Amino acid sequence: MRKRVALLGSSGSIGKRALAVAKHLREEVEIVALAAKSQVDLLHAQALEFSPKVIALWDKEAALELQKRVPHIPVLAGSEGLNAVSSFAEVDFVLVAITGTAALLPTVAAICAGKEVGIASKEALVSGGEWMRALLNKHQTTLLPIDSEHSALHQCLRSGKREEVRRLILTASGGPFRNKKKEELQRVTHQEALAHPNWTMGPKVTIDCATLMNKGLEMIEAHYLFDIPAQKIQAVVHPESIVHSLVEFVDGSLIAQLAEPDMAMPIQYALTWPRRCPGLTPSLDWVQRSSLHFSPPDEERFPCLRLARSALAEGRSYPCFLNAANEVLVERFLQQEISFMAIAEKLEGLLEKHNAWRLSSLEEILAVDGLAREAARTV
Ligand code: MG
Repeated sequence: MRKRVALLGSSGSIGKRALAVAKHLREEVEIVALAAKSQVDLLHAQALEFSPKVIALWDKEAALELQKRVPHIPVLAGSEGLNAVSSFAEVDFVLVAITGTAALLPTVAAICAGKEVGIASKEALVSGGEWMRALLNKHQTTLLPIDSEHSALHQCLRSGKREEVRRLILTASGGPFRNKKKEELQRVTHQEALAHPNWTMGPKVTIDCATLMNKGLEMIEAHYLFDIPAQKIQAVVHPESIVHSLVEFVDGSLIAQLAEPDMAMPIQYALTWPRRCPGLTPSLDWVQRSSLHFSPPDEERFPCLRLARSALAEGRSYPCFLNAANEVLVERFLQQEISFMAIAEKLEGLLEKHNAWRLSSLEEILAVDGLAREAARTV
């Protein structure tokens, strides 16, 4: 029987690539549900191509408009619609490719419904990591990473036992400002920050790559995904984005995963795991990729990485607060309200004032998320 997949975030860059993978794997994968924010034309075209059994659009007016165009497919709306798609009875695997904290509720709905979950956005695990881990245990479901670094770690970890791990090393491209001096970083514009050298992604994650917050969030995500202590998780700058991450074992052996930067690889890995099958990603070209570089990240120029590391070390509500406040500050930078360096400066000030506590319910996670957003809007 084919694996029945719900794709959440089908209008984004990962969502579109996931549909290409689903087409390639059509013998074993069937798209039964699609969800997105508001893009009616695109979802209409995707509905015609993949004939899902249900669609959800977060935007209610867009949902009504799409319903008129596809009268034969139920189109649900709002966050209830997204949750309904996540827990839809005829779904085996929920691929969460929504960015930001908006991914949290549908991910929880999928886990509670006992679905296998592939997660491309890191925010759900960052904000509610401890609680999510308990939830996964309770519902005995599998959570597979689709972020390229975590997919790499997942693959490398198959080389040894968990207690044999000395450290996880996440690679970071370093973003567009890797070689900029601290003074130059004061003046960079949002257009410059949006020009990522290796990957085409949505604006939020692209800015996070430029500040290195993306790597910080990924370190937090790795801690909760793989249950490896915070002090054993590190980052290294690797501008070519060919080595997607590495695991060092206690005997000093370092296992790396390499591939051309193409999200089709981690998407397919999550969909077919524990098997592998022929995929869309081309072979590595040694002529183009004849040298690979590595260097330690500079936390003085990129303080967001340090802030994320200390939030991870402090635990409790710090990662949740950091994630939500950062999301708002990035949005304010994109709106040209604050400067690039102000993202880290304001975030540091907010974190210093935060009174952390242990998060033991979804309500508490959402409460801290809300507090952080409110504080970040006005600071
Ligand atoms: Mg990544």
